Amino acid sequence: MYELESFMAELERKNPAQPEFIEAAREVVSSVIDVVNDNPKYLKNKILDRITEPDRVYMFKVEWEDDEGNIQVNKGYRVQFNNAIGPYKGGLRFHASVTLGGLKFLGFEQTFKNSLTTLPMGGGKGGSDFSPKGKSDAEILRFCRSFMTELQKYIGPDTDVPAGDVGVGSREIGFLYGQYKRIRGENTGVLTGKGLTFGGSVIRPEATGFGTMYFADNMLKKRGDTMKGKRIAISGFGNVAWGAAMKATELGAKVVTISGPDGYILDEEGVSTSEKWAYMVALRNSNNDVVKPYAEKFGAKFFPGKKPWEEKVDMAFPCAIQNELNGDDAEKLIKNGVKYVVETSNMGCTLDAVEKLQKARVGFAPGKAANAGGVAVSGLEMTQNAEHLPWTKEEVDNKLKDIMKSIHEACVKEGEEEDGYINYVKGANIAGFRKVADAMCDQGY
Ligand code: GLU
Repeated sequence: MYELESFMAELERKNPAQPEFIEAAREVVSSVIDVVNDNPKYLKNKILDRITEPDRVYMFKVEWEDDEGNIQVNKGYRVQFNNAIGPYKGGLRFHASVTLGGLKFLGFEQTFKNSLTTLPMGGGKGGSDFSPKGKSDAEILRFCRSFMTELQKYIGPDTDVPAGDVGVGSREIGFLYGQYKRIRGENTGVLTGKGLTFGGSVIRPEATGFGTMYFADNMLKKRGDTMKGKRIAISGFGNVAWGAAMKATELGAKVVTISGPDGYILDEEGVSTSEKWAYMVALRNSNNDVVKPYAEKFGAKFFPGKKPWEEKVDMAFPCAIQNELNGDDAEKLIKNGVKYVVETSNMGCTLDAVEKLQKARVGFAPGKAANAGGVAVSGLEMTQNAEHLPWTKEEVDNKLKDIMKSIHEACVKEGEEEDGYINYVKGANIAGFRKVADAMCDQGY
């Protein structure tokens, strides 16, 4: 039998100074521990010990030259967490905050998220402490080439398929793919999020943002509610926030905030026109990591150093980075009458925030369910690459909608409580866990 606190104490001893990994593991283990203790097969297979240990971790040096001719050194990583149900799959993050512990948390989460998508994908994550902020395109190109020169040894279309994440968008994926092809001479589906001219899928750039809104739409329908007329706070201004703002607008809601490390924008008119969406993309591509210029351009308000969670909204979508919405933020949102918080960044809310939101019976969805649309369309990109045939926008969008609906159903099935409240955290963890755990048991240790 497993006991939560002693299991977590041992996990922490084995993984010192990795607080995000421990936080993510605690959330999953506490959701599934009863299921495990009730199942002799899981106990015999030591499933919790095995599922919390990555299969392997690659760490490597990335040397590159900046525009002034100075040699720069960064750390590169690929965490291959679990391939029980399919090839390792998950993004690459380029951000100054990247550490091994952070990537282990992301690879662990990815394992359950990918399982929820219904597609055969294992979990992985990688990246570097390289920050694209303030770098020229030529520097980013040189960094990407150097990074891929090492990474290509460990990946392949049937073994491990990286994609984008924070700091890695279509530009970086293009540079990385170019270098992979230069070294290996192969046109394969080794990366997803590729450009449309070289094997990318339609809707992949928008998929995470679209998917989170489809998921939210299902949550609202379950409560007999609708997205129409909802006032929404979004954080971030990158690829995910961009897709979310577009789909929310299409569904009849109004997005009033976006944010960056410098503060947040309040746009009472709504982040709701093609011009504003195009400007978000331009801001991201400027490599400056600030949102303030949006306020100047569109006459919106800017609150320096603040987070959007102090605004009075019906729904909140953290779309930037882990732990960006804490217990205090949750209290403010609850006080202001928030009805739904849909975590769109990976572990965007602290455990404390999640507890407060659930206690107040706010509809809360965890990232591994709500943001799974991105990796789901990556899975569809892999299928298109394998059959050497591109699909239409309608086909991909319909499949994405169906996948988000089925993830929602899985969460409801495993997470509905006696009073009818849906514990989406528990539901997503149990549903995602079962498939991976069963596959591991069936394949033997
Ligand atoms: N980085 C995204 C995620 O967190 C997408 C991963 C992928 O497409 O492989 O799910």
